[in-house]
Amino acid sequence: MSFATLGLSEEILRAVTERGYTEPTPIQAQAIPVVLSGRDLMGGAQTGTGKTAGFTLPILQLLSAAPRPAAAKAPRVLVLIPTRELAAQVEESVRDYGKYLKLSSMTMIGGVNINPQIARLKARVDILVATPGRLLDHVQQKTVDLSHVEILVLDEADRMLDMGFIRDIKKILALLPKQRQNLLFSATFSDEIKLLADGLLNNPALVEVARRNATAELITQKIYPVDRERKKELLTKLIKDNNWFQVLVFTRTKHGANNLAEFLIKQDISAMAIHGNKSQAARMRALAEFKSGKLQVLCATDIAARGIDISELPHVVNYELPNVAEDYVHRIGRTGRAGSEGEASSLVCIDEHKLLRDIERLIKREIPVVQIPGFEPDPRIKAEPILNGQNRGQGGRGQSAPRMGGQARTGGGQARSGGPKPASGHGAGRGAAPVLHRSGGRGR
Ligand code: AMP
Repeated sequence: MSFATLGLSEEILRAVTERGYTEPTPIQAQAIPVVLSGRDLMGGAQTGTGKTAGFTLPILQLLSAAPRPAAAKAPRVLVLIPTRELAAQVEESVRDYGKYLKLSSMTMIGGVNINPQIARLKARVDILVATPGRLLDHVQQKTVDLSHVEILVLDEADRMLDMGFIRDIKKILALLPKQRQNLLFSATFSDEIKLLADGLLNNPALVEVARRNATAELITQKIYPVDRERKKELLTKLIKDNNWFQVLVFTRTKHGANNLAEFLIKQDISAMAIHGNKSQAARMRALAEFKSGKLQVLCATDIAARGIDISELPHVVNYELPNVAEDYVHRIGRTGRAGSEGEASSLVCIDEHKLLRDIERLIKREIPVVQIPGFEPDPRIKAEPILNGQNRGQGGRGQSAPRMGGQARTGGGQARSGGPKPASGHGAGRGAAPVLHRSGGRGR
C-alpha cells in the first residue's frame, strides 16, 4: 500500500515523501481512512508504531479541506499529551507534515515561561498540542479559548492515567464543544481506559496494531537466567562484552536504580539513575547525554521512566522483571522503532519464574533463553518472595519456587553453550539445574 491511496492531499504527500516514508505503517493504513471519515477512533498503538502520523496526517487533511474565516483564531484541534518532551515532538511532526499547508500549530507545556505562550495565543492557532496542567493554567487565566475545538486527540491515554491526569482531563473535556471528533490512543486497554473511552467516544472504530512485543519482528527478546545476587555482575559482563551503549535498565525500586548506577560507575561504565524528584532541566540534560551516547546506562523504575520520553533505544534491560506483566510491554516498547532493531534483555532469577510465565502468557510467545556460561543458577538457591512489589496479594503469590522437571528451554536457535542440562525427575534431585521451563505445556 502507498500513502497516495489514502486520500491525502498532494501537499501532505510531498511532506511525507520528503520525510523518507515510502509506505504507511499498519496503524497509519488503518487509522487514516477512519479519521478522514470523521468517525471517532480508539487506537491501540504504542510509540514507535507511527501513530503520530496516523492521526496528524488526516487531521491536517481535514483542516485544510475545510478552511475557516481568516479572522477566527481559536484552536480547531486539541492534542493532549502526557509529557512535555513528547508534546514538543508531536508538535514538531505537525509542523513538518504540514509545512506545505497554511495551518499553524503551537506547543503548550509546563516548565517554561507562560508569557510567550499567552502572546502566541493572540495569533491564530489551528492545532494546539498541550500537556494537561499547563492547558488548565491557561484556562484559568482565560488566555485560551477551547470552544471551537472540532477534533480532540488523547495521546498515550494509559500514560496519562498512570500519571494521575484523569481529573485534569475531565475538566478539559467539560470545556470542549459537545459536537466534535474524538481520537484516543493507548498502548494498553485497561478497565480504566475502557471507562474513559466509553464516556468520551461515540461509536468509535477500533484500530489496533499488534503490540510490538506480540509481533516483535524488530525487538529481539532474551532471557538470561542468573542468581539474584549475581545480576549486577552479569549485567556488567553483558554491557562490556557486547559494548552496549544507550542501555535503559529497569529496576523495581528507586533504591535499586541508585544502587545499580553506583555499582556500574565503579565498573567504569557511565551510568545514572533517574528519579522524579530531579528537576525537569536535570532530567532533560541527563536524557540529552544519554541520547547522544555520552551516558552509557540509564537506570530507572517504571514510574520514573514514564515521566520522560525515551524511545527508539537499542537496548532495554529488565534488571528485574516487573510485577505487572503489562509493564513489560511498556518497557520493551522503548526499544526498536519503525524500521530499526532493538534488543530487550531480561535477567531472571529463581524468584521471578512466575512473573516470567505471566509475561509470556500476555505476549503469547516464549522468550528465548540464553545461558551465559559461568552464570548458571545454583540449584541450591531457593525462591524468595519479591519485596517492594505492587501486587503483594495472597501471601507472596507469584513467588513460589518453580517446579522442576520441565523441559529445558532452547531459545529459538540461541546458543546455550554450557547451559543447564534439561532437568529430569523432580525438583530437589541432585544436579537438577533450576532451568526455566514451561510447566503444563502451553495451556493458555
Ligand atoms: P511514532 O510512533 O509516531 O512515535 O513514530 C515512530 C517513528 O517512526 C518516528 O521516528 C517516525 O518518524 C517513524 N515513522 C512514522 N511513520 C513512518 C513510515 N510510514 N515509514 C517509516 N517511518 C515512519
